[in-house]
Amino acid sequence: MVYVMINTMFHILKARRMFHKRYLVLIILLLVLLNIALLVIWKLSVIESGIDKLQILKESLELHKDKLQLTEQQVLLLQQLEAEKHHQNRPIIYCITPTYWRYVQRAELTRISQTLKLIQNIHWIVIEDAAKKSDIVRNVISESKLIATHLVAQTASFEKFKDKNPKAKRHRGVEQRNAALNWLRDNLVLGKDKGVVYFMDDDNTYNIKLFDEMAKIKKVGVWPVGLVGGLNAETPIVDRTTGKVTGYRSGWLPNRPFAIDMAGFAISLDLILSIKNANFSYEMAKGMQESEFLSFFTTKEELEPLADQCTKVYVWHTRTEKPKVSGIIPGLEV
Ligand code: UDP
Ligand code: MN
Repeated sequence: MVYVMINTMFHILKARRMFHKRYLVLIILLLVLLNIALLVIWKLSVIESGIDKLQILKESLELHKDKLQLTEQQVLLLQQLEAEKHHQNRPIIYCITPTYWRYVQRAELTRISQTLKLIQNIHWIVIEDAAKKSDIVRNVISESKLIATHLVAQTASFEKFKDKNPKAKRHRGVEQRNAALNWLRDNLVLGKDKGVVYFMDDDNTYNIKLFDEMAKIKKVGVWPVGLVGGLNAETPIVDRTTGKVTGYRSGWLPNRPFAIDMAGFAISLDLILSIKNANFSYEMAKGMQESEFLSFFTTKEELEPLADQCTKVYVWHTRTEKPKVSGIIPGLEV
């Protein structure tokens, strides 16, 4: 290239009879320098685009590194931690869901897991009333991509027998809720882990606004529950001027120390972790599980009424009708 350029210049100059040996040397020198400069610039740009490509490769490796090395739940946990940076003041809400096999189980769990997907900072604890973990529950949890803990705790067989006598309706969810409480106490640290604990049965219906209310809880928060106890809703009665709970409207024993359904309260994790002996029990009288459990933690005067001073219903004690299944289509799992 240099040779061609020099040759061309030489012929031009010669043709114009402006040839002078000194000028020629100078021009040649300038052209050589120009060429060297062009060559250096070109080389540098090649190296630079190589570095760019390497950088992109490195970043994409970095991006996939987590996925290659961590389990799906761990990746979710990292993503959740990332999201938590934007919700740093929001506590984690530990939702405790006892569940047992019946035809509607997958439908119930799908429904509530998809409610939970709409909320930040959820840790779903699902406890199967079964001897071992089932594929139905395992699949719903993994499809939900929620941070979740899957446990099993079987209801004692003597309690199950009570079903034969409709007057002695057995306690439901006792063993399962206790298993979740044990898990919290074994795995979380008082003072370090912060959160709220909510007993979230698999068949109720939850408005996502309820979880915003729970985020305000200092010790124990309470709110109305729709469609329960033979009423359109049960609710704590709130004194408008003091903002304190003075009593309860409940279709079932309103004079209980806490006449509140399982869906109508949530408790700070600090309290759950510090009062370790607070549990549910088969010994408790019928309909007294909630009241006796709450008595471990608080008094009526201390309750924190939420949902606009208990004027809004954000949870309904819905019960799914038992379907009559008279035939099974092979290969289709419900
Ligand atoms: N449950 C359970 N084992 C049972 C019956 C119920 O684990 O044998 C669970 C159920 O899935 C629900 C909770 O315990 O999450 C409360 O049960 P249920 O909704 O039947 O009670 P109710 O609506 O009568 O309070
Ligand atoms: Mn129920």
